Amino acid sequence: MKWKNHKDMARGIAKELDLPPHLAEVLIEGSIQPDKNGDLLVRHDRNWIPHRSRMRHHRPDRRYIMILIWKARRALLESREEDAIWCLGRAIHYIQDLNVARGIFGLAHDSKESDIGEYEVAESVFREGIRNAVSSPRYVWKCLKAIKPISNPATALSQAAMYSATISAAVLGDTRPEATFEKDLARAKRIHWSRFAPLSFGMLVVLSAISFFIDQIWFVIPSFVLALLIFRLDLGYYAMREEAIWYGLE
Ligand SMILES: [Zn+2]
Repeated sequence: MKWKNHKDMARGIAKELDLPPHLAEVLIEGSIQPDKNGDLLVRHDRNWIPHRSRMRHHRPDRRYIMILIWKARRALLESREEDAIWCLGRAIHYIQDLNVARGIFGLAHDSKESDIGEYEVAESVFREGIRNAVSSPRYVWKCLKAIKPISNPATALSQAAMYSATISAAVLGDTRPEATFEKDLARAKRIHWSRFAPLSFGMLVVLSAISFFIDQIWFVIPSFVLALLIFRLDLGYYAMREEAIWYGLE
């Protein structure tokens, strides 16, 4: 995707979110920074030797985007607004790149990019994205997973605008959770520690006892894994904990 597209979209998002001019500038600059310097990722080669390599823009790593989103959110909660907008800008660059089809063996990519340079996005697309946003890490992750590369340039561009606008609004959304959230969180914690934790511990004790009884000590390892699995099975609790971190409550 061209710098012009990234800048236009960042400008559109900043306008619809009513960002003050200096923060709008930070968002625009952030949204082209990955093309200027690129982000380094730690990868492993075939022999599992770590090395640093540049993130491939046209196949950005969704987990890395999520790291940038969390950085932005944390900065926002700590009232470091400029940092928050800068990280968000970098994230939306990759989010937008995700929408462009690579073509066969990536050959068509450059021509798609120049095609895309010609199009502009209607303001209503940003507005719709922002209206639908839910301030939650699960919502952001769902959006990231839902993005599919598109080969029609106009459609790819408006999809890129919609997703980057909705994710921006989610990250910069409410910093206080709904009124009932803390109560629900306390309840989820109670259930987790009063049911899942004892069940998991009980399972570990019983299976370990069996493994000693049948004289198969190695059996302790799968017992431990199973106990851990039960502990982690309380998905509702972990989802709520993630939300709590999103609101700075944990
Ligand atoms: Zn790029």
